[in-house]
Amino acid sequence: MTDSLVILGSTGSIGTQTLDVARKYNIDIKALTAFSNVKLLEEQIRSFKPSVAVMYDEKSANDLKQRIADTNTKVLCGMDGLIEASSMQDAQVVLNALVGMVGLEPTLAACKAGKTIALANKETLVAGGELVMNTVKDNGVSLLPVDSEHSAIFQCLQGCPEKKYLKKLILTASGGPFFGKKRDELKDVTVKEALAHPNWSMGAKITVDSASMMNKGLEIIEARWLFDMQADDIDVVVHRQSIIHSLIEFQDNSVLAQLSQPDMRIPIQYALTYPDRVESPVKELDLTSIGTFTFDKPDYETFECLSACKKALSKGGTSPAIANGANEAANLLFREGKISFLKIGELVSGAVDSLPSVPIKTLSDVLNADKTAREYVYSSI
Ligand code: NAD
Ligand code: MG
Repeated sequence: MTDSLVILGSTGSIGTQTLDVARKYNIDIKALTAFSNVKLLEEQIRSFKPSVAVMYDEKSANDLKQRIADTNTKVLCGMDGLIEASSMQDAQVVLNALVGMVGLEPTLAACKAGKTIALANKETLVAGGELVMNTVKDNGVSLLPVDSEHSAIFQCLQGCPEKKYLKKLILTASGGPFFGKKRDELKDVTVKEALAHPNWSMGAKITVDSASMMNKGLEIIEARWLFDMQADDIDVVVHRQSIIHSLIEFQDNSVLAQLSQPDMRIPIQYALTYPDRVESPVKELDLTSIGTFTFDKPDYETFECLSACKKALSKGGTSPAIANGANEAANLLFREGKISFLKIGELVSGAVDSLPSVPIKTLSDVLNADKTAREYVYSSI
């Protein structure tokens, strides 16, 4: 069980649920961070008394400093603040619940400081791939998945004594709000419709990623790196009920699955208690009340982001960083009402097809690819 924790992105969907788990198990919170939500971060600081708080936005950091002048919490800001929080000497685990590429350098810093990393921030593993995994290995640290599908696979893998027995990973996908729809039905969908996820309550960016199926594309790449599997050995199946969170297939075609209510507090808690299992606030699974499980093939033609991610993975090098960077920009433009829903897929595919991929040797290779992909998106609209 984790005894001391840094939460990057503590005001978000994963961050606040992590604090629920930390409260229940009296985990000592060393640092909390947010982009600019001063009010919520102040509440969290007063309740959890971390020694460090990071407000990414400088103006909000100054505001926070004044508001909590009566406490012992030191306020930092910007990327330097996130890196300092990720490297704190007295913290055992860093749970990265930031959204997007901003989480990459803090993850690398946490590795170098010898921390166990509980990773929700999938974008940075997608973009950083080999660089992140090599940094994990070089520093002898553990990278534990928080993403529900990857936690499911990780839980199933506890029943696989040797990698050679494993044949395939099967990621489940809810299909999101637009499952079964074709391109002509998706032309005019609104941001509100894209934000109405049938099973999960999550931050806005990942909810739109689920609607476009970019989320599943990112998760294929995430699985490739977390579990060292080849792209051809990672399948996706649409499972509308979101009860089976993913499966593994062995050489003998026997399949193991992990099931639970769709509630992120289970994978979050498992990353913090691993290898132990303790009571959870999530209710028991009542299979008879669910009744039926369904399984469908994903629609790679309609959901272009999914095929673009597969292509990016097979191209290798900085291609996944390009797919991710293009999507981060396009997802935001869609939420701002500046582009249509289908344009997201067109831009991600366009970026993967047209931008050159180079091998990732250093952090700047990843950051340059990300920047080029965002520029591609802004110049294409
Ligand atoms: P969210 O938007 O609810 O929260 C993001 C957090 O990061 C907030 O605390 C925010 O203040 C902070 N943040 C955002 N941009 C920042 C920036 N530029 N600089 C510094 N801080 C910044 O997001 P979320 O839904 O909690 O998702 C977090 C990560 O977890 C994402 O990578 C997402 O894909 C992944 N994830 C989320 C869920 C879920 O159920 N929400 C499930 C699986 C994986
Ligand atoms: Mg997931």
